[in-house]
Amino acid sequence: MKILIVEDEPAMVELLRYNLESEGFDVVSAHDGEEGLLALEEEQPDLLLLDWMLPGVSGIEICRRVRRDAKQAGLPVIMITARGEEQDRVRGLDVGADDYVSKPFSPAELLARIRALLRRRNPDVGAEKLKVSDVELDLVAYRVRRGDRELHLGPTEFKLLRYFMERAGRVLTRDQLLDGVWGQNVYVEDRTVDVHIRRLRKALNEAGESDLIRTVRAVGYCFERA
Ligand code: CA
Repeated sequence: MKILIVEDEPAMVELLRYNLESEGFDVVSAHDGEEGLLALEEEQPDLLLLDWMLPGVSGIEICRRVRRDAKQAGLPVIMITARGEEQDRVRGLDVGADDYVSKPFSPAELLARIRALLRRRNPDVGAEKLKVSDVELDLVAYRVRRGDRELHLGPTEFKLLRYFMERAGRVLTRDQLLDGVWGQNVYVEDRTVDVHIRRLRKALNEAGESDLIRTVRAVGYCFERA
């Protein structure tokens, strides 16, 4: 899961980055509003941590724009602020933030809120079994079924399918798949993604079932919910 931090205090960014990365999240950051809006487009994060007081475009304004943008409307947003007043809390939630933490806050509290929010948005995150359409992926037993049929996947196809299922219904770019499945510091060619998608499709659709992986021309792939 990728988290975008938009925050102008470098020390706060580093504290958040350290805590989130130790919990296994991928972290990207922006230090002002304009950069934040750009990063939202380019990075397509799974959750946004947004500082209220930013130079340039404010956190409130970013939140408003996120909620107006059809592509990002479902993005979970947590506002971070130095102001603890009830009135500001209400205003933050008014413009569409899902949750709110006031500085100073404990990293443990923030992590708990992040997890709760991600679970609320996608109950499958952190679960032992994922189920989308007629595909069931068991993360403990390491087994995959489509309907009554057991699928035999290689380790990369298994990771790829898991990544897709946790983000079902979202269009994922090749870059997102590369970062999410192979890791950010690994050099893999774009066409490697296509090779593994082809293998995954073959295993999934072996019995002539409908293709659950939709190719979105010039963008990437989407795992269909139904
Ligand atoms: Ca600030």
